[in-house]
Amino acid sequence: MRMIDLIAKKRDHQELSNAEIEFIITEYTAGNVPDYQMSALLMAIYLNGMNHDETSSLARAMLNSGEKLDLSMIPGTKVDKHSTGGVGDKISIPLAPLVASAGVKNPMISGRGLGHTGGTLDKLEAIPGYQVDETVDQFIQQVQEHGTAIISATKDVAPADRKIYALRDVTSTVEAIPLIASSVMSKKLASGTNALVLDVKVGNGAFMKTEERARKLAETLVEIGRQNQVPCVAYLTDMNQPLGYTIGNALEIKESIDVLRGQGPEDVTELTLILGAEMLVLAKLAENTEDARQILIGKINDGSALAAFKQLISDQNGDASIVDHPEKLPQAAMTLDITAKQAGYVIGMQTNDLGLASVKIGGGRAKKEDKVDPAVGIVLHKKIGDTVEVGESLATLYLNSEAPQEVQDQVLNSFEIGTDRPDPLQLIHEIIH
Ligand code: URA
Repeated sequence: MRMIDLIAKKRDHQELSNAEIEFIITEYTAGNVPDYQMSALLMAIYLNGMNHDETSSLARAMLNSGEKLDLSMIPGTKVDKHSTGGVGDKISIPLAPLVASAGVKNPMISGRGLGHTGGTLDKLEAIPGYQVDETVDQFIQQVQEHGTAIISATKDVAPADRKIYALRDVTSTVEAIPLIASSVMSKKLASGTNALVLDVKVGNGAFMKTEERARKLAETLVEIGRQNQVPCVAYLTDMNQPLGYTIGNALEIKESIDVLRGQGPEDVTELTLILGAEMLVLAKLAENTEDARQILIGKINDGSALAAFKQLISDQNGDASIVDHPEKLPQAAMTLDITAKQAGYVIGMQTNDLGLASVKIGGGRAKKEDKVDPAVGIVLHKKIGDTVEVGESLATLYLNSEAPQEVQDQVLNSFEIGTDRPDPLQLIHEIIH
């Protein structure tokens, strides 16, 4: 087989066979296919799609690019959660220690920022010393002893995703259902989890902008889980405004700590509890989601969830004192307020643009080699439904260099101001079993 022929096949809308997909993934992972050919193939998949069989083959080939962890020595049902990516979506960070404090065994293999969205690993690396690269043995031991570990896909576990993910991020090939589904499921099935809660984002800050596409992605994910004997529950959740008030790595760690102290923003806290409750039920630690929710609230109120976060950080060589002293997190050199030119209600937010603005000031990557700046980002002061006066601050930019005028305008124009108070957004759109 030759890569050039397979690119042409996909370009010409033909179906790739299981053997061809296996060849592509094996050879790319081994370094025998250059990035430029893989980029061309990814763009052909982005433009022409993949059918059901191709997507399943892709997920399986990516899973088989590395080892599948065996966590059977850890008693109980291992449960994980994954988000398809959003802006200000820091849920995994409070969620992992919260459910671990309630007894869930949560092996989490996460990703980095992708396109306009942030990534759990980049956020955790804002914590001084935090290591996302663990050996498989360390990962298993940590989950066994303390309930959770959050690491990167490695050269041993889902290595194909690690390479393809980084390439998609810089070739504008993220928003394709087969690519997202195979990326998510290869990592999650490799992690040895027995069940999975999926947070499929929908809206103008998500990769899936419409309910229809989000539902299709959710169904694809759940089906791949079913074929691999990993029961999945997918929540379609709102991404028409950022989650919480912070966008940016260190800023989101601080907000996650607030959630674990019971002082977080309502939407982040609510989504953490909803997804966490589902995880407790899947782990058979609660009869139903209402009982599970009460258990989780108890763990926040008695400080166990916060203690579990400190444990997670120190297990991965991070400085856990940032939990009590968030001022030890990387701090930006300067701030700049973006003020309203018009009074009224915030009736909409261009969430995608807010994510891109954060990337442009250094919070994400434009090229694979780019380093993210953990300190920069955006703190929102207004969200949908809030009133605004002329001259009031809509958002503060946290910067380590001057913000280009284009970025300032982008943030200002992300706030749509109108005269009538809008209906509140619904956090959960649909649940797919
Ligand atoms: N999350 C992933 O792990 N992969 C994607 O492609 C998108 C979101």
